[in-house]
Amino acid sequence: MTTMNGVILPGDSTVRHIQAEVPDPGPGQVLLKMKASSICGSDIRAIYRQHLGTGPEAYKGVIAGHEPCGQVVAVGEGCKRLAAGDRVVVYHIAGCGVCEECRHGYMIGCTSPHRAAHGWQRDGGHADYILAEEATCILLPEPLSYVDGALVSCGFGTAYEGLLRLRLSGQDRLLITGLGPVGLAAAMLGRAMGAGPILGTDLAPERLQIAQDHGLVDHAIPADDAAADTIAELTGGRGCEASIDCSGSAAARVLALQSTRTWGRCAFVGEGGQISFPVSELLIHKQITLYGSWVTSLRHMEDLLEHLVRWQLHPETVVTHRFRLDQADQAYRIADQGAAGKVCIVMD
Ligand SMILES: [Zn+2]
Ligand SMILES: [Zn+2]
Repeated sequence: MTTMNGVILPGDSTVRHIQAEVPDPGPGQVLLKMKASSICGSDIRAIYRQHLGTGPEAYKGVIAGHEPCGQVVAVGEGCKRLAAGDRVVVYHIAGCGVCEECRHGYMIGCTSPHRAAHGWQRDGGHADYILAEEATCILLPEPLSYVDGALVSCGFGTAYEGLLRLRLSGQDRLLITGLGPVGLAAAMLGRAMGAGPILGTDLAPERLQIAQDHGLVDHAIPADDAAADTIAELTGGRGCEASIDCSGSAAARVLALQSTRTWGRCAFVGEGGQISFPVSELLIHKQITLYGSWVTSLRHMEDLLEHLVRWQLHPETVVTHRFRLDQADQAYRIADQGAAGKVCIVMD
């Protein structure tokens, strides 16, 4: 029996290193040598500090990490496409494959008891190896790195889906509330999709700085009481045609609605929390279309990888901290502080 290192999250703001058996791929499964496994805001919000999740966000004590990217080292019986040596991004939710949402490509929305997400209900990427379904692996195009791929498997995919939902184009100014990793992704992709100027808000000066340093936003605006006025000033009093909340904070969601132009579109992708706002004033009378958008589909993730190559973009631009697997405690501490860009565990 060969063993491997893995990391689990006990739910008290610590990480635990474990040894586990290297799994054998069953029918339709592949074994990946892990190369990069980034940390998502949801890992912090629902698992690391405390096990808060229920349903699709219930954490079952498995190896953590739902942004895995690696290389195929073994394939199980009946695999139809992948072979040893292939570089793949893992769409991190393995759905039942036969329900409406799965057939639509949105395995994220599968409600079958067979659904299991890596890092939540089945082993994730914080390990030397991961067992994945061939059907949820997407080939990583050569110019992209394993770190690029890891970032696509949740965060960049989520940002891209939100922007697709908004039908973002060169006719739009884009407001992003929350410049954490997903907000930074929305800025990078929004620019490539033609939007501009791009305005971003955040509470953390460090995050405003990261967005500015990489030229991802044209205006980095502190999320204080003056933010709404600043955005109005920068947009001739009209607001932005498109806005996306990537923070999950109530104040930021209200700011996004307030600062969306009449007839504009707004998407919420930041998870959690509650919101209360004057519906007539901010939504109905402004004729705003408000979208909720959850992760992305297999097809859109594949499409995003193709576009990243064409746009010559590297998601890893927003990575500010890299750690080895044995430094996972430091990685989580940094991610928990909410001031970093993306934090990624890199295997080699
Ligand atoms: Zn995530
Ligand atoms: Zn399903």
